[in-house]
Amino acid sequence: MSSPNADNGAGLVNGLISGFYKTATGLAPDRIAEREFGVGNFDVKISQRHMSFRNEHDLRGYLSANAIPYVSSSSAYYKFPTGRPMERKGWMGSELVFDLDVTDMDLPCQIKHGKSWVCSVCLEEIKKETIKLVYDFLVADFGFSEKEIDVNFSGNRGYHVHVKNKDVLMLDAAARKQVTEYISGVGIDFDKFFMQTSNIWDKETYNMKKMKMVTGPNPKEKGWGGKIARNFISSLDAGPSALERMDIDAETAKKLYRNKILIERGIGAGSWDFGRGISVKKMVEMCRKMVQNQAIVQSDRIDRNVTNDPTHLLRLPNSIHGGTGLIARKLAAPKELYRFDPLSEGIAFRKGFVKINANTGYELRMAGQKFGPYAGEIKVPTYVGVYLYLRGLAKIINFI
Ligand SMILES: [Zn+2]
Repeated sequence: MSSPNADNGAGLVNGLISGFYKTATGLAPDRIAEREFGVGNFDVKISQRHMSFRNEHDLRGYLSANAIPYVSSSSAYYKFPTGRPMERKGWMGSELVFDLDVTDMDLPCQIKHGKSWVCSVCLEEIKKETIKLVYDFLVADFGFSEKEIDVNFSGNRGYHVHVKNKDVLMLDAAARKQVTEYISGVGIDFDKFFMQTSNIWDKETYNMKKMKMVTGPNPKEKGWGGKIARNFISSLDAGPSALERMDIDAETAKKLYRNKILIERGIGAGSWDFGRGISVKKMVEMCRKMVQNQAIVQSDRIDRNVTNDPTHLLRLPNSIHGGTGLIARKLAAPKELYRFDPLSEGIAFRKGFVKINANTGYELRMAGQKFGPYAGEIKVPTYVGVYLYLRGLAKIINFI
């Protein structure tokens, strides 16, 4: 975490945070009085917990008066949110929450700029991952409705997803772990997806005929079977090199690509018979790799503890992130993800300009504009100056 430099910045940022909370809206989570809160400073994100607020007015007043840079709230509802130890709180259930963070991904751009910097590609990729979690898993497989799912930008490198369906509230840690394992592709029995029949009825000769016939999942199936089928079809559409990445040799990949229309039609009906070239064993291996690729991505990208621990505190939606000065903006609906731009809609401090002394290696895109790279003194919009300052890449000289 970046720690701000000791200069004019600290006072200025504190003033901005205090001003932000004076008029902030949408801060109160549902059943606010039953939630536990935690607050932090620029060095520790949660330095004090077991707090509670009766309503949004009290919460806003506290955050403004103390210029709080980090505030978190529980995914849990409690009878006594301030009770200590945890057993005395009277747990009444918890949302199912997911924390997706781009630092858990391995992206080509991160090799260039390192994991401490977040570029627009990083933010786009973690957004796609969040879309995948919501629509490929939570909606498609678990059957939650979009209305039961809240999504918010984390304020820094990713997104938080809260599921508020009443059936999930009472899930214990073990059941939550099963959810993370499922979305991470842990424990899938790959062999059960494919079947090879040796004898089929020959309609022309009215005899059983020796013939290999491979059947497998179709893209409309629920669960991992359908995902495997859809994933294979999209790799087929993407071309031979995408197939080679699944360990299919170059010659076979080209042949499959040439026949893609027929193959896709076949998979649509559950037939995975591609003629010579790919055995069932190979197919199972290929799918294992396909799922593993997806699964590693998912298991790495989801901080499992956040999901598994029903007493976890997570950034309060619509509050400030003290490492960027951005708002952990809550989206009106999950589908807003498709058009959401965190570095525009997450901006908190829109007014005025600051003079900074900056040393940034990379271009920053905020509010649709490019800023930097900078080396030396420069006048920038307040939100840019605060962002670079909190990331430890600039000193704030003064307000202009
Ligand atoms: Zn990047």
